[in-house]
Amino acid sequence: MKTPPVIDLHSHSTKSDGRESVRQVFETAARTGVDILALTDHDTTSGWAEAEACARELGIGFVPGIEVTTRANVEGSDGRRHRFGVHMLAYLPNPEDTALMGALTTSVESREGRLQEIVARIAKDFELTWDDVLAELSDGATMGRPAVADALITRGHFTDRGEVFEQVFFHGGPYYVPNTGVPETIEAIELIRGAGGVPVIAHPLARGKGPAEGEPMPEQHFADMIAAGLGGFEVMHRDVPKHARKWLLALAEKHDLIVTGSSDYHGETGKPNRLGENSTSLEMFERILAQATGAKAFLPA
Ligand code: AMP
Ligand code: FE
Ligand code: FE
Ligand code: ZN
Repeated sequence: MKTPPVIDLHSHSTKSDGRESVRQVFETAARTGVDILALTDHDTTSGWAEAEACARELGIGFVPGIEVTTRANVEGSDGRRHRFGVHMLAYLPNPEDTALMGALTTSVESREGRLQEIVARIAKDFELTWDDVLAELSDGATMGRPAVADALITRGHFTDRGEVFEQVFFHGGPYYVPNTGVPETIEAIELIRGAGGVPVIAHPLARGKGPAEGEPMPEQHFADMIAAGLGGFEVMHRDVPKHARKWLLALAEKHDLIVTGSSDYHGETGKPNRLGENSTSLEMFERILAQATGAKAFLPA
């Protein structure tokens, strides 16, 4: 392994909304100089076994992870409840923990109905069927909007996922349907810890999810997550704006939390994010390993 090793703790395969198989993702990682890679498909552990086999074969490290879809339920400064999606990375949780796995099963099942509702709305304006969407998904993959985007692209309505997200899936638009069958953020943190995993918030305060520069930061929301057992923040991620990074780094320092950097790879054509474009320090990675009691990472000798 090079010193320092390239440690990328966030990637997706066709087990959720990545455009490359687990094998392709690990081959790309090995080819492009990533030493340790976490596979963090949305709400599923179904890629772990294959990922470990590929990592062994290629001589790189593998960290089992999940990107857990959650919904925050926070009281705003206006006294009202605010609900918004938060992605929580779970590193090394026990894949047999019934509480966490039960919540993920519920989540994955509810995603199907939500996606059907989205497709029904879109089908009023574009030529699109539910079968088109199913044709974009590999067996047992976690269903998400990227599959609908892919179906719209296959039909010739758009050219890439980014375009669909901008023009069709914008927040508050007619085709926006929230994920409602998912755990609340605080509950998810507790479930991940309960399964021996380490919860790290994915791309915190990324584009559109956080206050603009100069506006007040969500102190209470973060204080609540930290009190519930949040392990750290994925600060070095292309979607986390500079002013948010500064605030998050100070908060991590104050509470002695883990700070990670990752690519959030979705395949060559899924998103512009490239494997290894951000990485996590060995020190921070070792802190994750030290806190985890659920699953084991595969690290080549
Ligand atoms: P869903 O899981 O249905 O809520 O869809 C969210 C997923 O869409 C995220 O996990 C991202 O991978 C993907 N996504 C969000 N914005 C974009 C974008 N602009 N381009 C490509 N993929 C996106
Ligand atoms: Fe995704
Ligand atoms: Fe995410
Ligand atoms: Zn992700």
